[in-house]
Amino acid sequence: MKKKNIENLENENYEQENIEYSAISTENPDRSDKNEFENPLRPRFLHDYIGQKKVKENLSVFINAAKIRGETLDHVLLYGPPGLGKTTLSMIIAAEMGVGIKITSGPAISHAGDLSSILTNLGAGDVLFMDEIHRIPRVVEEILYPAMEDFSIDVVIGKGQMANSIHLPLEKFTLVGATTRAGQLGAPFRDRFGVVLRLDMYSQEELEQIIIRSASILDIKTTKEGAEEIARRSRGTPRIANRLLKRVRDFAQVKNNGEINLDIVNYALERLEVDELGLEANDRRILEAIIKFYGGGPVGIETLAAAVGEEAVTIEDIYEPYLLKIGFLARTTRGRIATKLAYSYLGIEYHKKVEQLTI
Ligand code: ADP
Repeated sequence: MKKKNIENLENENYEQENIEYSAISTENPDRSDKNEFENPLRPRFLHDYIGQKKVKENLSVFINAAKIRGETLDHVLLYGPPGLGKTTLSMIIAAEMGVGIKITSGPAISHAGDLSSILTNLGAGDVLFMDEIHRIPRVVEEILYPAMEDFSIDVVIGKGQMANSIHLPLEKFTLVGATTRAGQLGAPFRDRFGVVLRLDMYSQEELEQIIIRSASILDIKTTKEGAEEIARRSRGTPRIANRLLKRVRDFAQVKNNGEINLDIVNYALERLEVDELGLEANDRRILEAIIKFYGGGPVGIETLAAAVGEEAVTIEDIYEPYLLKIGFLARTTRGRIATKLAYSYLGIEYHKKVEQLTI
């Protein structure tokens, strides 16, 4: 079994709810056995899915049109940083289309045979959700092409001179691919997705709605100010909002009869070392490393990763998107740069030459 988590990402602050991926993991969104996909906080239909207005509007048209024509939905590629709702959306697509869903991930499919057995087991119209699709091995990707286009695969049976290739038709299906890095998908692969949707970070108001919705599902009492404050520190990410809500609830339980208010949020988040911007120790370490070890940058991602003892992919996928969004980090062809804002946030005097920031 492989974990969905990005490599050695253990920071519980970005916990991925321990989705376990075998080459295949779930059959149908309605299945009742206990697993992560039963997460009660996941919206089940488009109307419960908060934010991402454009994505929702377009998807709703594509889904309705496919249903009117009695066809399967075209293949969908979802991209954006972790925790923004890609897995959730894939399950919503299946639920809205009224079909089953099978879930796998790029790195979990190591052999062509794994993919063949997944594909041949799909029911008519099913959704195949493939997380981290950019990590699918090349040989597997090549089998996926004809499967996506013609709904058929060629399976080689036997070895050497006895080898025989059999052409197998497949049921029509919708591949929903999710990736944090659409850029790593080759153009021929990307072009095979009829629908490509980018998920953006959520606004504070949207996160607040998500927190209020989650609090009501989990039966947590919270004041508006409390929810607002958690939203403000959730880095534009629903997964983080839900995680902070659950952690703050722990403090509220012990300190305030379970009720979350602004004081409890401030107290809890201070204890959790989440600052007013939602930044945590690792974010600060990254910014400090760029400034203190590399004169503010530019510094290559691998060098930076080694300096802070993280994987480059973790920095790129987990920490960087929000630091870029709030303008603390800039990405240039020569590496990462800490901006003037980052200096002032850390209380370090800014002395960078301007030309380095205009690359
Ligand atoms: P991703 O696949 O992009 O990493 P997930 O789909 O696993 O993200 O979402 C993480 C969590 O955030 C989910 O468990 C869900 O509860 C919550 N979530 C994500 N998007 C939304 C949304 N639009 N509205 C409400 N909750 C959301």
